This record gives sequence, structure tokens and C-alpha cells, in this order.
Amino acid sequence: MSEIGFVGLGRMGLPILKRITSSYKVKVAYNRNRGKAAGLEGIRVAEEPFKVGSACEIIFVMLSDDKACESVIFGENGLIRTINPQSILVNLSTVSHEFSISASRRLSQNMCTYLDATVLGSVDLAAKGTLTSLVSGPEKAFKTVSPIIGTYSGNIFFLGSQGNAVKMKLISNMVMAVNMAAVGEALVMAEKSGITRENALEIMEKGERQPGVIASKKETILSEAYEPSFALKDMVKDLGYASDLSRDLASPANLGISAMQFYLAAMSIGLGNLDFSSVVRVFRFMIGRA
Ligand code: NAP
Repeated sequence: MSEIGFVGLGRMGLPILKRITSSYKVKVAYNRNRGKAAGLEGIRVAEEPFKVGSACEIIFVMLSDDKACESVIFGENGLIRTINPQSILVNLSTVSHEFSISASRRLSQNMCTYLDATVLGSVDLAAKGTLTSLVSGPEKAFKTVSPIIGTYSGNIFFLGSQGNAVKMKLISNMVMAVNMAAVGEALVMAEKSGITRENALEIMEKGERQPGVIASKKETILSEAYEPSFALKDMVKDLGYASDLSRDLASPANLGISAMQFYLAAMSIGLGNLDFSSVVRVFRFMIGRA
């Protein structure tokens, strides 16, 4: 069996790594802030990404965005310094379709095989091993890593051509963003009608079987703490990538781009590091209730 490495120990990376280690040995891990690797048992912690590239043939990467992936894969101390042509780089990060296609092209020049393996679902599903994984790239490599992906996924979809996995992920997140913004708008209307948020959320959830964002975010909204499982700034990032995708496909995304304005407003009032569901607060600000 090839040696496995893991890069990126954030909110999603850490529980995914833990799921993988329940069935496989992970040899080396890397995180920019090394403090997050404290407590990893039996895994060597590398000081630089290229040290994962030299030690492992299957490397999972779970980072914030295009910029982080560019730096960790292609930067001065990046994986490409040492990665070998037999290696498979499995990128779980939600990146743009442009990054995905460009990374695959650059890495195909005898560097390694590149797969997108982006995930749907959040921290709780990662810990339970029931994420939905979308994978695209060379099928042979997909078959090799599929059992490892299975340690943290309840569903795995192979979508063929490079870029398709991130495209579908961005499309799906756009739907979630629109739904969450619609819930924010609805809650303000309910509140102005004298209906409590508790009642409004419960009725929308149960009465019309409204989208899962209500079931998954009801408690977060009612607590008003908005402890992040998926940060609002990352939703803004994904909506930006989705907007670029819509432009490149000449495929309208009116609702998604319109919803993005509310997430941008949320960023501007300092909610970027809170959970993305805190977008509902923007609608309360609009009627003068913080
Ligand atoms: P996170 O907790 O903020 O973790 C981000 C990771 O990226 C950390 O390891 C961070 O390192 C690293 N990073 C960021 N910028 C970097 C740079 N310039 N150089 C090197 N490392 C860098 O985010 P997350 O929630 O785990 O999300 C990770 C990815 O999964 C994102 O693409 C997100 O859109 C996607 N995703 C998230 C969820 C969710 O519910 N959270 C669900 C599905 C998909 P440091 O620790 O050093 O900052």
C-alpha cells in the first residue's frame, strides 16, 4: 500500500483525517499553523508541504481556497518540489473550476495525478463519516483512492472530466446560499407579523418540508451564537467562484448572485468568521433590529 499524507488540519481537515486513520495509516501531516497538529498520534508532522510530497504517494489536501492551494501545492516549499509521477494528489478543498483545471494541467506534466474530491456536508458529517464526496479526474486514480474516500463518505459520486466535481459543489452551495438567505428574509417577515422565530422555523421545517438548511441550522439561528461550522467568508468565496462559473458557461445565476449581495453585506458588518447562517442577521439589520 502507498504511504498516505494529509495537508490542512482545519475544521474539516481534522475530522476527515481522523476518519481516514480509523482504517489506514497516515504517515505525515502538514498544517501551516503547526499548533493544530498537536495531539495527532502516530503521524509525523512536517514543517513544510514538500516534506509530505517526498514521503507519501497518496496526498489528501483540504485547504481554504485557490490561494491556499496555489501556495501549498505550487509555492516555493510546495508539494511539487518533491512529489513523484506515481503519486496521486487528492484535493478536497472547494476551489474554483479555473484552479482545478489549471492545477490538473500543470501537474499532468509528469508531476503526478490530480483528482478533485470536494465534499458536501459539514463538520458533524465529517466526524460521522457520512459526507458526500464528488470526485473528478482520471478514473484509474479514483478507483485507487476510493476506499480511502469511503472512510469519511456516505456517498461517492464520480463525475468524470476534470473540474466537474468542483463545478457541482459550487452549484450545490449556491442553492444552499439562496435557501439560507430566503430563510433570513422569511424570519423577518414572520417577526414583523408577531410570530416567534421558533414557531416560524418549526412551521417552515415541518409544514412544507422546506430545505434542509432549516433542519441543520435551526438551533444555530435560535442560539444567535453562530459558532462556525462553515464560515460565512467561505460561502462568499464559493459564491464568487460560482459567479465566475456562471459567466464562463454563459448560464444565468440570478438568484445565486443576488443572494451573494446579502453575504457580502454580512461580511461588511463583521460576520465573516461566524457560521454562514448568520446571514439571517443582515435582514434584521435592514429593519433596524440587530
Ligand atoms: P478552515 O477551518 O478555515 O481551514 C482552512 C485550512 O486551510 C487550514 O488548515 C488553514 O491553515 C489552511 N490555509 C488557509 N490559507 C492558507 C495558506 N495561504 N497557506 C497554507 N494553508 C492555508 O476551513 P474548513 O471549514 O476546514 O474548510 C476547508 C475547505 O473545505 C474550504 O475550501 C471550504 O470551502 C470547504 N468546505 C467546508 C465545509 C464546512 O462545513 N466547514 C464543508 C464543505 C467544504 P491554518 O490552520 O494555518 O490557518
